[in-house]
Amino acid sequence: MANHDVIVIGAGLNGLVAANYLAKAGKRALVLERRAIPGGQAVTESVGGGFQVNALHAGGQLRPDIVSDLELERHGLPTSVSEPLVSILPDGRQLRLAADSDEQTLASIGTLSKRDAEQWPAFVAFMNEAAAFLDAAYRTPMPRLPNVSLKEGWPLAQLALKLRRLGPKDMFRVIRAMPMSALELTEEWFESDALRAAVGAVAIHGATLGPMSAGSGYTLMHNWLNRGGPGHRRVEGGVGRIADALVAALKSRGGEVRLSADVKTVLVENQSVLGVRLKSGEEIAATTVVSAADPRHSLIGLVGAVELPPEFVWATQSIKMRGAVAKVHLLTDGNHGLPKGTLVIAPSIRYAERAYDAAKYGEMSKEPYLEITTAGSVVSLHVQFAPYALRQGNWEQLRPVLERTAVDIAARAFPQLKSSIRQTKSLTPLDLERTYGLTEGDLNHGQLILDQMFFMRPIPGWSNHKTPIDGYYLCGSGIHGGGGISGAAGRNAASAILKAK
Ligand SMILES: Cc1cc2nc3c(=O)[nH]c(=O)nc-3n(C[C@H](O)[C@H](O)[C@H](O)COP(=O)(O)OP(=O)(O)OC[C@H]3O[C@@H](n4cnc5c(N)ncnc54)[C@H](O)[C@@H]3O)c2cc1C
Repeated sequence: MANHDVIVIGAGLNGLVAANYLAKAGKRALVLERRAIPGGQAVTESVGGGFQVNALHAGGQLRPDIVSDLELERHGLPTSVSEPLVSILPDGRQLRLAADSDEQTLASIGTLSKRDAEQWPAFVAFMNEAAAFLDAAYRTPMPRLPNVSLKEGWPLAQLALKLRRLGPKDMFRVIRAMPMSALELTEEWFESDALRAAVGAVAIHGATLGPMSAGSGYTLMHNWLNRGGPGHRRVEGGVGRIADALVAALKSRGGEVRLSADVKTVLVENQSVLGVRLKSGEEIAATTVVSAADPRHSLIGLVGAVELPPEFVWATQSIKMRGAVAKVHLLTDGNHGLPKGTLVIAPSIRYAERAYDAAKYGEMSKEPYLEITTAGSVVSLHVQFAPYALRQGNWEQLRPVLERTAVDIAARAFPQLKSSIRQTKSLTPLDLERTYGLTEGDLNHGQLILDQMFFMRPIPGWSNHKTPIDGYYLCGSGIHGGGGISGAAGRNAASAILKAK
């Protein structure tokens, strides 16, 4: 007899959101997490020297409707504050961009171009509209193409209506912008290359794309939606507190989270799920299992190819997972000289594109795009591009190069930084795989590219959270609604599970 109605694999934000919605509907939910801390990529933990840092993801927020549905504020969800993005230009000037088009932002853009400053509020309005459309798309269940029943196609028809309501001009602009490159998109709005590059940096954040890649128009909208603008949302007390609130909410609904519980196998018989087996050998039964790990690990790793149809295995193995993000944390004496905010080093479109060029050929960028955040005396450098798949050498050999390169680039803008460093802790794409369970270090559990979005995410025909195994579902970032910190994929999966019951 199973003690739980549903097992959730992985206590990242999507797993915890899914478990909460299921528990709210009266299901006894058990979350199993391989690490000793919940939160997945949204963790605040020690990376050494006793410093607590946002180890990977610097900030963010769950969708407001998820916060209110799950009453997370009552369970300790911290407040988050929208920060402007500050692009550091080679001559030391700072280009400040906030989504509310405040006076400082307009004045800052005005030093580069008066025309661009006039354009900014209209650009923000367009981006907010595009993000709202994407948000609606992410909450719309996608049909299983190509054989769509009327019932399955209906939500999509409603989404099309929503798009239509934007008016013919804006509808056209949103659809047109998705396959465009960030360069093409920003060229239509702005004349300043530095401004185009700062916006382009938002587009490529977390993606293995350059600002000249087709589809970086879509990733710009995606990241704008998840951040609520160009800069991060700084979470009071650290991003890990979001997971803490979700765990507290789950417990209050009778759910359970077990840490250091590494699932080795999803148990299957006659194409139906029976439960899971942990690495320790313990077996836990349940008639519904939902995995928040990435789709390749969830299916090929945990279920095994022998239990799945060959064409499904082939498609799952072909999911493009191309991590190219590394993180370098600098534990300083506090005299680093950096202002607060989301600081970006991507001074021109060519700079960012060249940084990406290196990744295309399996090399680390010599001049990477950096996003820098600070928490007291800790300086965290988000580094792109550091490809998981290296053409030469391995990540242990390249770790010192990564650290040196990132610090050198940051120190060009902030010369005090170098002498303030006491310890350096880096996370390579291989660490993302080994420590955080991200196949190929891909933080979106599958690249956000045009042939892997909407009804093609995770693979064509399987965007509805189901798998060929009855009772086995997917709810992580690699599924429609993900990636990112929004919790949308978890919410959508819970709704699909509850509807199927
Ligand atoms: C450096 C960095 C910067 C980012 N920046 C942004 C950003 O600006 N905006 C944005 O929206 N997103 C950003 N992200 C991505 C965002 O953090 C993730 O998309 C999101 O947190 C993923 O949540 P998840 O629950 O889907 O998956 P994860 O957080 O990956 O959680 C999956 C969980 O499953 C666990 N697990 C895996 N396998 C097993 C197993 N076999 N048994 C038990 N447990 C298992 C893992 O340990 C993990 O806890 C960033 C990520 C990184 C790394």
